[in-house]
Amino acid sequence: MINIQWDKLGFDVVPTKSMFKATCSQNETWKNGAIVPYGNIELSPAANVLNYGQGAFEGVKAFRTIKGNIVLFRADKNAARMAFSTRRLCIPEMDTQFFMDAVMKTVKDNIDYVPPYGKGSLYIRPVIWGTSAGLGVKPASDYTFMVFVTPVGPYFKKGIRPLNLKITDQYHRAAPKGIGNIKAIGNYSASLYPLSQAKDEGYDEVVYLDAADGKRIEEVGSANFFIYKDGVLKTPSLSGSILGGVTRDSVCVVAKDVLNIEVEETDLYIDDIEHADEIFCTGTAVVVSPVGKITFNEKTYEINQNEMGPITKKIRETILAIQREESEDIYGWLKQIR
Ligand SMILES: *Cc1c(COP(=O)(O)O)cnc(C)c1O
Repeated sequence: MINIQWDKLGFDVVPTKSMFKATCSQNETWKNGAIVPYGNIELSPAANVLNYGQGAFEGVKAFRTIKGNIVLFRADKNAARMAFSTRRLCIPEMDTQFFMDAVMKTVKDNIDYVPPYGKGSLYIRPVIWGTSAGLGVKPASDYTFMVFVTPVGPYFKKGIRPLNLKITDQYHRAAPKGIGNIKAIGNYSASLYPLSQAKDEGYDEVVYLDAADGKRIEEVGSANFFIYKDGVLKTPSLSGSILGGVTRDSVCVVAKDVLNIEVEETDLYIDDIEHADEIFCTGTAVVVSPVGKITFNEKTYEINQNEMGPITKKIRETILAIQREESEDIYGWLKQIR
């Protein structure tokens, strides 16, 4: 029997029973693969991923629902994004069906690690990389795809308290026409230093501006960004250096359809923050998290008296209700595993 204190779960790696592993050479397609015991792997010090960062990852969640089912939330979108990421990185393109099968197998084999209804979720991490040793800069000849899982609770330890963000004009996360729009291994490494500094200064996360002219808001380190003002919900359009989040898309759909809010994908500027009624950020890990304060160049804007706003709350609850089968899955976003 596994022994996990479900109420104490945060967002950390908890070792589980098993993981999925497949390998593929450069001119092959993804096939076979198997569940293996969870544990460390061996890698050449000259592996392409270690030296040149040829790799991509995904983040998906499985939930135990009010009906007692175990479901995946929009994993087909992650499969499609993984295919997109691998293409950009010269990794043999991940087959969406292969991805789904690997995810399903891994969750099924680790089903005891899916937290009870309402206590969190099973975070699924598919990751793919260039395995073979090489010194010259070129795509690897061999690749590895793995899926591991870990039970998680809330992303932010202190619960859903509105976030205190810092907008930086000292660092950029992603370059125009670079790889900011794929989930490349190493994209986050650019954000570790600004994030550490911001945390030392008492902020929760960093908001990045576009690297072309530094005027438009792009996203929060690992989550997408939304502003609600006068009945309109706005989020930066996918310019090429923003990661197209699955949660971002879900929020746009739910806001338009369920809540009858006008949704605009557009350019957002610092000025828009000053007049915002509500601000929140979105991601698989954070779901929908309210923003209470944003600081730019010594000026701090307080949003909705540093409280979660009613629209943020409604959108968050609508998505959580779909994920937990408390409301009907009208969009077919859930895939039942058990
Ligand atoms: C993964 C990620 C997001 C959120 O995407 P989801 O699909 O909603 O989890 C946002 N920004 C960046 C940079 C990311 O890597």
